[in-house]
Amino acid sequence: DSQFSEIPLQPKDAAFSLIEAFHADPFPQKVDLCPGFYRDENAKPWILPSVALAKQRLQADPSEAHHEHLPMQGHPKLLSGARELVFGRDVELQRIASIQTVSGTGANHFAAQLLSEVIKPKNVWISAPSWINHTEIWENVNDSINKRFYPYYRKEDQSLDFTGMVDTLSSQSRPGDVVVLHACAHNPSGLDLSVEQWKTVASVCVEKKLFPLFDSAYQGFATGDLEKDAWAIRYFYGLSHLEFAVAQSFSKNFGIYGERIGALHLVVNSAEAAQRTLGRLLRLQRAQITSPPSYGAKIVATILSDEELFKQWLKDLDHMSGRIKQMRKRLYDELKKRDTPGSWDHLLVEVTWFSSNLLLCHPSC
Ligand code: PMP
Repeated sequence: DSQFSEIPLQPKDAAFSLIEAFHADPFPQKVDLCPGFYRDENAKPWILPSVALAKQRLQADPSEAHHEHLPMQGHPKLLSGARELVFGRDVELQRIASIQTVSGTGANHFAAQLLSEVIKPKNVWISAPSWINHTEIWENVNDSINKRFYPYYRKEDQSLDFTGMVDTLSSQSRPGDVVVLHACAHNPSGLDLSVEQWKTVASVCVEKKLFPLFDSAYQGFATGDLEKDAWAIRYFYGLSHLEFAVAQSFSKNFGIYGERIGALHLVVNSAEAAQRTLGRLLRLQRAQITSPPSYGAKIVATILSDEELFKQWLKDLDHMSGRIKQMRKRLYDELKKRDTPGSWDHLLVEVTWFSSNLLLCHPSC
């Protein structure tokens, strides 16, 4: 008899078991439609040329050729570069507490932990549907916070349910509730808010005193334009006295999925509050991982702090986002050519590899 025999049997992770099932399938003409990882024209993982160059530089530099750990807060150049990517150049850095995290997942996890402790929300509002891990993370961090869902995607016509989203948040949220927002490339619908719609959401957050938590996992990967993909975050930043958080992932935009590189940023109303926030985050970091992953951080820091590599990275982003767009158009054209029943126009509106029509059968990583 074991003390562990009472653990309830856990359901398998939907997204990762789909990937396993794909690998196990011996059918030679199988097609991999599991979303979550960029593949090249031979269906192979793609190492971004900017990343390959950064790796060469790191290898050739004796001062980098070691396996020491990073400071607890993370790689300093990664953190400054990460902040500039998200917020732009003209920001009051002393109002932002940033920490390197174990990728976007770790950033979401830390955000949930810190916010449940400090803000003590009654509810966390998650889009319906959303990245499945949002619910998981909040459930694991604090199961007494209610997970509530705001409408986002309307199945009937494969469109954004913006009215439903705003009505629900306006009428049912409580002051101090956290609202999880996808900065760009909404997972899994691929449908994003317009500039005007973001402004409306921002005013709901201000009026209802909600705490926005942006999940930014696709900056530059969605439209190919770093500024456009960060527009909503920068707009929220410009609203004075609105405190919020950004969970940032570098998995997709640098194609370094397995290196687990991300950051969490808390925008708070005073330099003193930022110091206190950072202190709390450092203690969480110490207790959980001590110091964050180093190799991927060096890669990203090298690219973000070097003009030539940065330019190459912009080309790489353009290549990935452009190619995905072309593939969507081809799929659309082929479906149309065959008079495939249904409306496929949404394929040309949605961004990245997401598609609302695939939602019902495809959980995403
Ligand atoms: N947020 C969203 C919306 C995502 O789609 C993902 C990855 N699919 C993540 C966060 C985090 O990914 P990672 O931990 O690999 O950075």
